[in-house]
Amino acid sequence: MIEIEPTQLLESTVAEHMIDADKVAHVQIGNNLEHALLVLTKTGYTAIPVLDPSYHLHGLIGTNMIMDKIFGLERIEFEKLDQLKVEEVMLTDIPRLKTTDPVLKGVHAVTNNGFVCVVNEEQVFEGIFTRRVVLKRLNEVIHAAKK
Ligand code: AMP
Repeated sequence: MIEIEPTQLLESTVAEHMIDADKVAHVQIGNNLEHALLVLTKTGYTAIPVLDPSYHLHGLIGTNMIMDKIFGLERIEFEKLDQLKVEEVMLTDIPRLKTTDPVLKGVHAVTNNGFVCVVNEEQVFEGIFTRRVVLKRLNEVIHAAKK
């Protein structure tokens, strides 16, 4: 376990704790729901970012959004998986963090979300800040302080 001082953690920024974009599973604008469901199922994540080819963040797509869209009144409309694009279903009104934001802003943001996307000034996707990483860091600080 790394030794980390409480002040060190409090003075850190979102960039120091985020999972970098190249390690984050995502789908692209134009992908259909079948592809998104495949990525979500294979990775085991509940929601993933939707990006364009130049890596701008457009929203989030989750299994629940897809299932909700294909549940008809009398049956599951599986054909919609192939017909609908992720941009027709994704959530666009999402919280965003900047790499330079203080870690406490990140902690606040993940109180109500399992993870929050991190973008730069041009809304280019930089990575995600997750509740799991925050709790791991806090655990390290608490254990170091107890020694
Ligand atoms: P975790 O903190 O690992 O439990 O992840 C919480 C949520 O963050 C997951 O359900 C995903 O929606 C998202 N997430 C975490 N890691 C990744 C990743 N590498 N790629 C895409 N989404 C992720």
